[in-house]
Amino acid sequence: MNDKRIPRVDLPEGVHLDTLAVREGLPPSAWGENSEALFLTSSFRQPDAATAAARFANEEEAFIYSRFTNPTVMMFERRLAALEGAQACIATSSGMSAILLLGMGLLKAGDHVICSRSVFGSTIMLFGREFAKFGVETTFVSQTDVSEWERAVKPNTRLLFAESPTNPLTEVCDIAALSAIAKRAGAWLAVDNCFCSPALQRPIEYGADLVIHSGTKYLDGQGRVIAGALCGSEALVNEKFVPVMRSAGMSLSPFNAWVVLKGLETLSIRMEAQSKRALELARWLETQPQVDRVFYPGLESHPQHQLAMAQQSGSGGAVVSFIVRADGATDARRQAFHVIDQTKVCSITANLGDTKTTITHPASTSHGRLTEEQRQAAGITQGMIRVAVGLEDVRDIQADLLRGLASL
Ligand SMILES: *Cc1c(COP(=O)(O)O)cnc(C)c1O
Repeated sequence: MNDKRIPRVDLPEGVHLDTLAVREGLPPSAWGENSEALFLTSSFRQPDAATAAARFANEEEAFIYSRFTNPTVMMFERRLAALEGAQACIATSSGMSAILLLGMGLLKAGDHVICSRSVFGSTIMLFGREFAKFGVETTFVSQTDVSEWERAVKPNTRLLFAESPTNPLTEVCDIAALSAIAKRAGAWLAVDNCFCSPALQRPIEYGADLVIHSGTKYLDGQGRVIAGALCGSEALVNEKFVPVMRSAGMSLSPFNAWVVLKGLETLSIRMEAQSKRALELARWLETQPQVDRVFYPGLESHPQHQLAMAQQSGSGGAVVSFIVRADGATDARRQAFHVIDQTKVCSITANLGDTKTTITHPASTSHGRLTEEQRQAAGITQGMIRVAVGLEDVRDIQADLLRGLASL
């Protein structure tokens, strides 16, 4: 939220992203603290009953109750908004609750949504099952075929939802092309920017109206908390989302906001270092005889390599997926499990965006709730392994994977 409750930091015009990541959001304060303060308080004392009444009626801006107003949360919102090049941001308890807030704020029964078929598994469940209960219809389309999005537009289409690159296939969508379709349809375009973070990709620059984040991933960057956020114009945030937050309460805790706020300070150097290691790992995987295919936007062999380089500041990000060589689906699952189980450095966990490298089998974890048909449509095969590269020495990650690959 952008308002006058806490004074704005007085930064010169035009300071750059790395400066904003460290300096934006730290307000001048009576105590002069140089590290952002953590306001662990559920409510705020009011000077008198009449002032309390005015503040509850929105006639005066002030902190009231941490479900919808907390200074630490607001510092995080300001910093993330600045990094995304957005006017405003509203923090949420998780990435999924940011998408829930998006739906509750923008959609009503009878509305239509177009969503990429390749988005995060829980996002497919939220649109395909939960929002459907409330009469919102979603058409799932190809991540990369713009003409499918165009053809899916209906008179009642209100929202286009994409994620780029996707998990785990790292498919890249053309945000500017989707924005043009959304504008012609009179709909909003929301982009889940979890995999790139604003250090590499700022969807608003390509015409997105709204940006979704799981703060759990690269924004925190150290696997400590669950957090989320939604960024967009001040008008949209204030009109559509602030009232929902106040009533529905998918709020970010001040403690988690403080953790993610501090995480943002190292975001761009982490993204740079982790992406560099990911590219090295992807190139190495391509040379391994037991690997059938590698998915990484930084590789020249990636189908949307050029688009990814243009849209993602010349970086492929830090997530690499690959398919192990196998005979049929049952064997593929066994082979993938073998490679995962032979690792000693990588953490076997479905999270990503951590400084610790994580390894997972998407078909049985993040995408395990999908039907086999939905998984096939999304291209998540049983032989696929996803590695979210951290900050370890990449030679140790290669050795970790080679142990399993060499013994297949
Ligand atoms: C993890 C993730 C989410 C959900 O975020 P949570 O913080 O776990 O709720 C949404 N989108 C993408 C792309 C993700 O990777």
